[in-house]
Amino acid sequence: MAETFKDLGVSDQLIEACENLGWKNPSKIQAEAIPHALDGKDLIGLAQTGSGKTGAFALPILQAFLESPHPFFACALSPTRELAIQIAEQFKALGSGFGLKCAVLVGGIEMMEQTKMLANRPHIIVGTPGRLLDHLSNTKGFSLRTLKYLVKKLQRVCLRNPVKIEVASKYSTVDTLMQHYCFVSDKYKDCYLVYILIEKCGFSSMVFTRTCYATRIVALFLRNLGFKAIPISGEMAQSKRLGALNQFKAGASNILVCTDVASRGLDIPSVDLVINYDIPANPKDYIHRVGRTARAGRSGVAISLVDQYQLVWFKQIENLIGKELPEMPFQREEVLLLNERVKEATGISRRGMEESGGKKGKRRNDEEDMDKHLGTKDRKFSKKKRK
Ligand code: AMP
Repeated sequence: MAETFKDLGVSDQLIEACENLGWKNPSKIQAEAIPHALDGKDLIGLAQTGSGKTGAFALPILQAFLESPHPFFACALSPTRELAIQIAEQFKALGSGFGLKCAVLVGGIEMMEQTKMLANRPHIIVGTPGRLLDHLSNTKGFSLRTLKYLVKKLQRVCLRNPVKIEVASKYSTVDTLMQHYCFVSDKYKDCYLVYILIEKCGFSSMVFTRTCYATRIVALFLRNLGFKAIPISGEMAQSKRLGALNQFKAGASNILVCTDVASRGLDIPSVDLVINYDIPANPKDYIHRVGRTARAGRSGVAISLVDQYQLVWFKQIENLIGKELPEMPFQREEVLLLNERVKEATGISRRGMEESGGKKGKRRNDEEDMDKHLGTKDRKFSKKKRK
C-alpha cells in the first residue's frame, strides 16, 4: 500500500495543505480511495468514524478543482448540521492556500445569510438535504447544473460501476479504544458518573444521555459539583449548539453532556473519554458515540453505565460489535462515599429545573435563567435573529 500522499498521486500543492494540517501520511481509507477517485471513478467508501473519510473525498475533489476551477464545483450532503459544518471546515482548511470558497447550507440559520453566501459563487457547497432543497427551490439563480462532484451518505443510489472500498466492518470499533461497562443500580448512576469523572479529571469527556432534558439536568448537577460541564442537544437553537461545541473545543469546558444528535459526525479530536450515562436503544448509536474517541489512531476510553432497565440494550450492542466487553473494576464502597454530596447536587439541579418550568411549559420563558447556570448563554445571536 502507498505510504505517502505523493505515492497516491496527490499534487504538491495539496500535500503542502495536508502538512499544514499535520496530516503526514494518508489514513487507510485515504490510501485506498484517493487513487480511484483521482481516476474519476464513482466510489463507495465504508470506514469507521474518525478514520479520515472527509479527507478521502475532499482531496481528490480539490485536485480536480485546481485543474479546472469554477463556482459550484462540488456538493457534499451530510445527515447532520454539525457534520456539514465540520466537512466545510476541512475543505476550507485544505483550500486556504488557494482561496477556496465554501458555503454551508443547513437549517437553524437564516436563509438570507446563506443566500448572500451563494451570491458570492462558492466553489464547494456543504449542506443538509432539506435546506439545500429549500435554496434550490427558492433562491434565484442558484442551481447545481455545473456540479462535477457529489458526495453523500448513501441510502440507495445508482452509480456507474462504483469502486467499493471497505477498510473496516461498519460496526467494528477501533483497537485503540478501551471499552468497559459497569453494572449499576439506576439509584447510584449519578454517583458512578461523578466518581469516573473525578478519576479521569483532566480528560476531555463526552457524557451521553437519552433525552434532551437529561443533558440539562446532568450538566447542571455536574456544574453544581464544580465540573466544567456543558449540555448540547437537538432542542437547542443551532447557534447555541455551536456555541457549546466551541466552548468545549476551546477547552472552556471539558465535559460535553449530549444526546445522540451530537454523537453523529462531530469532529472533536481531543476527546479522551466517552461515558454512556444511558445505554442507547439503537445499538448503532453506540458505535457512533464511542467513535467520538480514539479517532485518527489515538487511544480512548469508553465506559457504559448499565442499569437494570438497560441491560437488554447493552446485550444488543455486544452482539452488534461481536464481542463481550469487560466489566470495570470499581470499589463500590469507595464510590458510594460520594453519594451524599451527589444527591445534594442533583436535588438542587432538579429544583432549579422545576423552578424554571421543568420539562415543558414555562421552561422557554426561563431559558435565559437556565443558560446563566449552564453557561450556554448565546452572546453572538439575538433571539430575534433566530428562525
Ligand atoms: P474524519 O473521519 O474525516 O472526520 O477525520 C477525523 C480526524 O482525522 C479529523 O480531525 C482530521 O483532521 C484527521 N485526519 C484526516 N486525515 C488525516 C491524516 N491523513 N493524518 C492525520 N489526521 C488526519
